[in-house]
Amino acid sequence: MDLRVSKIPKTATVELADDLLRWYDAHARDLPWRVAPGAGERADPYRVWLSEVMLQQTTVPTVKARFERFLKLWPRVADLAAASLDEVLKEWAGLGYYARARNLHAAARALATSHGGVFPDTVDGLVALPGVGPYTAAAIAAIAFNRRETVVDGNVERVVARLFAVTTPLPQAKGELRRLAATLTPTQRPGDYAQGMMDLGATVCTPRAPKCLLCPIRRACKAYAMNIAETLPRKIEKAAKPVRAGVAYWLESAEAKTGAAVVLLVRRPAQGLLGGMLALPSVGWDDGALPAKISQLKWRATDAVVRHTFTHFHLELKIVAAHVTKPIDVAGGQWIAISDLLDAGLPTLMKKAVREMLSNFPLLAGEG
Ligand code: SF4
Repeated sequence: MDLRVSKIPKTATVELADDLLRWYDAHARDLPWRVAPGAGERADPYRVWLSEVMLQQTTVPTVKARFERFLKLWPRVADLAAASLDEVLKEWAGLGYYARARNLHAAARALATSHGGVFPDTVDGLVALPGVGPYTAAAIAAIAFNRRETVVDGNVERVVARLFAVTTPLPQAKGELRRLAATLTPTQRPGDYAQGMMDLGATVCTPRAPKCLLCPIRRACKAYAMNIAETLPRKIEKAAKPVRAGVAYWLESAEAKTGAAVVLLVRRPAQGLLGGMLALPSVGWDDGALPAKISQLKWRATDAVVRHTFTHFHLELKIVAAHVTKPIDVAGGQWIAISDLLDAGLPTLMKKAVREMLSNFPLLAGEG
């Protein structure tokens, strides 16, 4: 902890919250999961939950479009619980971090079976749901149930680091920033306050060139007074990501009845990277192994290489190809028509591989 960091006096925190709420009333972002600020209306916990889960690794513009689509398919938590996991994973395709979709589905089922489809209204009740951590629980409790909970995402961390001029670098400063943020949370309208802090970080107290002259809480901001806002929060430089190499297997065949060209996809193990998603068989970059039935085929190299970045590593995936005259029965495998591959709910990495093969390489039929 930075010992020079001091709390803001109680009366000043009340003023700060009032200033922020007035600003939020006038400048709140119009987002599809929200209700208008100050209207006294409660946000739907299902919408808040879904938006917070989607926003964990995905930008607001992407989430806006996908959120609406998701809600059209499953307007209530009971609808989501009734869907199959495969349907949910297919709809989640391209958003990444697929454990989020698996947990959403598991939590929807837990809500439907053990809670009568009704969300718990406390952090303790919410964190008991699959995949709901302290951040998401606090966001739902504050925004949907107006509980006095402190919601600290990356935007709020930045605002608080600057308000208190915290010079300890992230990630060490996280606990301290959470404690300091909690000292500011008001008893009145904590849900609107939480969203106001997030909006302030997203639109005014931005990582680069914060718009301090437009900031409603500038009077209380130590970093502004010290002219160090843009240098905060400090961060420890991350080590460069390693590069892993893998191989993906493009196996073509022809559908028995129609003769249509088909490609083998396999369902990945539920746990781990791209867990539960349909994908081309691949090895070398994770713990996966090639199904025994296809490992002995005569694979030939192609020039196709797909590059993709995961949280902890970069991946270079080379694609090899083969053709068999009849589809082989592979455990967990599905033969999908080539024309349907891009709509099969593949994760982004595998969509890139399919696009690469479709646009650069002739089909192998007839060569088998
Ligand atoms: Fe951020 Fe500037 Fe506002 Fe301080 S005054 S909270 S640095 S925008």
